[in-house]
Amino acid sequence: VAAAAPILDDLRLQCATPLPLLRHVAGAMAAGMRTGLAADGAGELKMIPSYVYSLPTGSETGLFYALDLGGTNFRVLRVQLGGKDKRVVDTESEQVSIPKEIMHGTTEELFDFIASRLSKFVAMEGGNFQLQEGRKREIGFTFSFPVKQTSIDSGILIKWTKGFAVSGTAGKDVVACLNAAMERQGLDMSVSALVNDTVGALAGAHYWDEDVMVAVILGTGTNACYIERTESIPKLQHLGLGTGNTIINTEWGAFSDGLPLTEFDKDMDAESINPGEQIFEKTISGMYLGEIVRRVLARMAQESDLFGHSFADKLAEPFVLRTPHLCAMQQDNSEDLGEVESILHDIIGVNQSSVAARRVIVEVSDCIVKRGGRLAGAGIAGILQKMENDSKGLILGRRTVVAMDGGLYENYPQYRSYMVEAMAELLGPRDMEHIVVEHTKDGSGIGAALLAAANSKYAAAQLLA
Ligand code: ADP
Ligand code: MG
Repeated sequence: VAAAAPILDDLRLQCATPLPLLRHVAGAMAAGMRTGLAADGAGELKMIPSYVYSLPTGSETGLFYALDLGGTNFRVLRVQLGGKDKRVVDTESEQVSIPKEIMHGTTEELFDFIASRLSKFVAMEGGNFQLQEGRKREIGFTFSFPVKQTSIDSGILIKWTKGFAVSGTAGKDVVACLNAAMERQGLDMSVSALVNDTVGALAGAHYWDEDVMVAVILGTGTNACYIERTESIPKLQHLGLGTGNTIINTEWGAFSDGLPLTEFDKDMDAESINPGEQIFEKTISGMYLGEIVRRVLARMAQESDLFGHSFADKLAEPFVLRTPHLCAMQQDNSEDLGEVESILHDIIGVNQSSVAARRVIVEVSDCIVKRGGRLAGAGIAGILQKMENDSKGLILGRRTVVAMDGGLYENYPQYRSYMVEAMAELLGPRDMEHIVVEHTKDGSGIGAALLAAANSKYAAAQLLA
């Protein structure tokens, strides 16, 4: 164990996120936002316009569907909207895991798989759910990968991320892909809104609380979006939108300016399917935290007797150690760290570990998770600072809500505290008093359906009714 100590000390140094470093990250995030708003492709942050010009108001009525594709699972959902007073009458949803061969297959295979599951879900419609006569079903499509949106209901995939490697989709309109697959299934439904999951989460949270200005996803991957004034978006001025608000999808996963990275991060990046890309995402999101820790442990096992002298083969396997394992280990408050031991045994095949060795492993996890959480907090502070600088008092001078979603944020209490702690350090106690960081349960699913409703092909008829 003693031989592992220098590796841990080194790791702590390299992963440290003192306030000056966080300040730099927040400032760089704000600056990157401005660069991305000025022109397409001008910086690391794409700052993608959502084409959402009217957020759901609450008066929407009728049956709407949502489909959420963004990670290892996809979800389908239906919601019956009852207008101003009744709001959400009922919802139903279902989750389907995506087989690995589909994630590595062709575009048609992926969309046929989705449309067939969706079709089965639609067939179970009943009870409180009722389609208005003469209408076609409408669906909001949450698609949380980088898309070049061309209107509220079309968008071209720039590239897959988060372990997806479906061939032939980049450069294609994903709405057209889904509409075509639904048609092949004989499903009478059309896409009314294409939304990023972050945009959906923001719309969903804003439906219940008008002070929600920012939404952040921390799950398998990560992203953030916020409400921007159209006058502040130079690259949209040619559209002559006048004054008003829209949602900007930052695609902040691509950020990298000033991040404290280790050799473990660099090796993981080099061996990933998208080397050199999504560096912020690879440092702070759920898909990667466990893997970074695994790499540190593998090095420790090689260079010390941390796990005795028999090196565990399983430890050499990329992604065996996952973020939920780190989380479980960090919740272990027992004297002998029994939970840590059983994870070491079951997951990475360590037959025997001393309590001291288990402590080292928890320390390594904490180091990586602390860095991730604090950097996420710095990113959020950067967004808030950019908004505040433009509006002087409309963000930090009043109640402002940051809506959070995603499995990492939801399930990892230490990560959450590190994140909020960093925000408080950066914003200071006075401004932090006005900031509410709030989990939006299922914001994204409902949000997409709400945006489908707000952008319904029958919306004009609805207004007249
Ligand atoms: P997605 O991001 O794929 O849409 P989720 O928002 O549900 O899906 O996030 C799933 C991710 O959340 C997992 O990949 C994992 O990294 C993280 N996660 C899930 N459960 C836990 C947990 N108990 N502790 C820590 N992280 C978790
Ligand atoms: Mg998600």
